[in-house]
Amino acid sequence: MIAARKKLVLVGNGMAGVRTIEHLLKLNPEGYEITIFGSEPYPNYNRIMLSSVLAGGANMSEIIINDLEWYHSQGIKLYMGHTVTSIDSESRKVYSDKGITAEYDELILATGSNPFMLPIPGADKEGVIAFRDIKDCQIMQETAGSYKKAIVIGAGLLGLEAARGLLHLGMEVTVVHIHDYIMERQLDEAASVMLRRELEAQGMRFLLHKQSEGILGKKRVRGLLFTDGSTADADLIVMAVGIKPNVELAKKSGVQINRGIIVNDYMETNIPGIFALGECAEHRGIAYGLVAPLYEQGAVLAKRLAGVKVEGYMGSVTSTKLKVSGVDVFSAGQFTEPDGSRALRYQDEIEGVYKKLVIQDDMLIGAVLFGDTSDGAHLFSIIKNKENISGREKELLLGISADVFSSTQGNRLEVMPEDEIICGCNGVSKGTIAEAIESGGCTSVGQIKACTKASASCGGCKPLVEGLLQLYAGDAVTVVKEGICGCTTLNRDEIVSEIKRMKLMTVKEVMNVLEWSQEEGCAKCRPSLNYYLGMLWPEEYIDEKESRYTNERYHANIQKDGTYSVVPRIYGGVTSPAELKKIAEVAEKFAVPMVKFTGGQRLDLLGVKKEDLPKMWEELDMPSGHAYGKTLRTVKTCVGSTFCRFGTQDAISMGITLEKQFERLNTPGKVKLAVSGCPRNCAEATIKDFGVVAIDGGWELHIGGNGGVHVRATDLLCVVKTEEEVVEWASAFLQYYREQAGWNERTAHWVERVGVDNIKKALESQEERLALKERIETVLGLTTDPWKQIVNEPELRKNFEAIAQIESV
Ligand SMILES: Cc1cc2nc3c(=O)[nH]c(=O)nc-3n(C[C@H](O)[C@H](O)[C@H](O)COP(=O)(O)OP(=O)(O)OC[C@H]3O[C@@H](n4cnc5c(N)ncnc54)[C@H](O)[C@@H]3O)c2cc1C
Ligand code: SF4
Repeated sequence: MIAARKKLVLVGNGMAGVRTIEHLLKLNPEGYEITIFGSEPYPNYNRIMLSSVLAGGANMSEIIINDLEWYHSQGIKLYMGHTVTSIDSESRKVYSDKGITAEYDELILATGSNPFMLPIPGADKEGVIAFRDIKDCQIMQETAGSYKKAIVIGAGLLGLEAARGLLHLGMEVTVVHIHDYIMERQLDEAASVMLRRELEAQGMRFLLHKQSEGILGKKRVRGLLFTDGSTADADLIVMAVGIKPNVELAKKSGVQINRGIIVNDYMETNIPGIFALGECAEHRGIAYGLVAPLYEQGAVLAKRLAGVKVEGYMGSVTSTKLKVSGVDVFSAGQFTEPDGSRALRYQDEIEGVYKKLVIQDDMLIGAVLFGDTSDGAHLFSIIKNKENISGREKELLLGISADVFSSTQGNRLEVMPEDEIICGCNGVSKGTIAEAIESGGCTSVGQIKACTKASASCGGCKPLVEGLLQLYAGDAVTVVKEGICGCTTLNRDEIVSEIKRMKLMTVKEVMNVLEWSQEEGCAKCRPSLNYYLGMLWPEEYIDEKESRYTNERYHANIQKDGTYSVVPRIYGGVTSPAELKKIAEVAEKFAVPMVKFTGGQRLDLLGVKKEDLPKMWEELDMPSGHAYGKTLRTVKTCVGSTFCRFGTQDAISMGITLEKQFERLNTPGKVKLAVSGCPRNCAEATIKDFGVVAIDGGWELHIGGNGGVHVRATDLLCVVKTEEEVVEWASAFLQYYREQAGWNERTAHWVERVGVDNIKKALESQEERLALKERIETVLGLTTDPWKQIVNEPELRKNFEAIAQIESV
């Protein structure tokens, strides 16, 4: 006789509950007669992807995880749009608001969370919403059609994703945050400041350290009132200030709750036959708000229900990734430094990269990445596995992803257990991906995404998926062409040739004609296109300031604390008492906190307020040192034959000539030069982009050096006899680099990629060199000193005025 199937009821048709059912059906397909109740009038969908829907990256139909056909084929009775209002745990029955009664042997509560709405006067007005479900998304989309101004309260993950979506919908968006810096629950201050700057560049405005007191307007919202008495206009207010576990049903049914529904390691509540998981559950004092832990809970519960032996759920370490196009932010584990830990940091303000690792007892316990998050999945796996990283700290901090399939990475993936989760957002394990490759025939990340959903949400696991492809598919891997960023599949050369062919003249035009997926582009493609257009059409193209990084927009390096630096040009590192006196007087007058010699032989006035910048430059009346941009920085020189007894040539005057020749030159990456007066090379010319070393009767010209994170010694380009030849070869080399390299590609990387022999070949004919020299001279002839211009034009000076206070009521 066949045993009667047990009755299983799931309350909550969301991500955690249905994932549990999917698992259970695999483990024991015939074990239960399943009934599901869900308040929302849709089948199970991927809530995470609501952010993508809002930002135009996906449509509603793409986010459905299981369509109605799936429920039907699995024999699941689904009550969509039904809210379960009570549970009778004695008779083991549940009741829905639409009059349905269902009996159960086992009951799962997976009721998720409710968004927390600030209990301030006016919070019930029309146009005040949360960001939790499809309905909220639809309201935002409709509102953007007829209104202009949106405020998002809360600068956490959800708030920023909502704000980005609203910007995409064409609204003016202000994010209001109670703290001094944004995403303070995932990021330290340095990463947070970099993130804010990038989002500001995308058009988001921020009001920090602001507490909301009330919502203004009659029936519909008109604005927001703050506790300091100021106000801000708004036609829509999105509250993204947190979530609270939805425990109403459990509470009134006698299930024990604290903040969430209290469960043990097997997801059991205090009432026999009732389980809980997902955001509504509280395990060992923690109610999680991200899917990865909820899926881990689901795997345990499914095994428990299927009668499969299972170790209990032990809690999770979590990681987060902001899903905002063009901004890469990753945070995992402990990002603050608990007692007994130490932190390693790497920060590159120019490239917009920040990395922080928190280490305790030789183990990685936390990581924050900004700008380059490609190592996120790897670091997260190290944190979860509690690996000993002693001796590998620097390697981990400076990046291991350049070679995704390095021997360490390959080994790690090989020994990784089959059930380890690779894609946290969609709960896809290593085993599932391996099966998709080996049995399913997937040979690209795109196919794996379509087949398993791995890397379909935040994309943070893509490097690991690529690693698994290499591991299991080897030579069969399909290399998918990568564009310069996520907005296009075109690479640098294709873009440049299309711009030339079609005579495209503006960033917007390039994006439209070449069919960018993101209408307004991202932080990677906007500055690249701005550079390529300026390089191709030096005389016609008008530089788009808004496509440049903050440092370049303000012609000053922004410092860690939000102040700026002033670095006047000191040609060849040679100054005079009069110049030094002037610098000292300006530094004193504006109370500059620090005056420092830089590695490039200049004086750096640090800690300057933005509003003082024009006045200081006016008084200094010296050329800008361009210490901030992708341009010629310094020409370092030794004393050469002028004073040194070893010197064979006049290094100082050679350096000054070169610096005067190329100052203000716009280049793909920053460019540093140096001139040494003899092969002792005191000016370290062989780690510069273009290095000149004097020898008896001439000069050696070196290219492609770098003294940064990845030190690279130069390659010898050629040996020349005269100063004129040095200038001719330097001009030709720099213009060739300008025309051929990718934006943000330093000469060291470019020379290695292209090969020094090819560069030598391209420059060997004097005719070609002179043509390149002529082109660089045209560009140089069009440049002006940015600070002279700002000082003389009141409109430009306005950009540096202190930000006005918003109006008070
Ligand atoms: C916009 C957005 C972006 C996000 N991005 C990320 C991300 O990038 N990464 C990440 O890890 N997490 C992210 N999250 C969080 C993630 O979506 C949640 O952690 C996850 O959906 C929680 O799953 P759950 O099943 O516990 O709850 P839910 O998915 O909320 O499902 C609960 C369901 O139960 C229903 N319900 C409640 N009470 C009843 C009742 N009495 N009767 C019937 N039905 C009921 C609810 O209507 C709901 O449909 C995001 C969330 C949002 C809103
Ligand atoms: S490089 Fe040669 S010339 Fe220049 S300072 Fe050193 S020893 Fe003197």
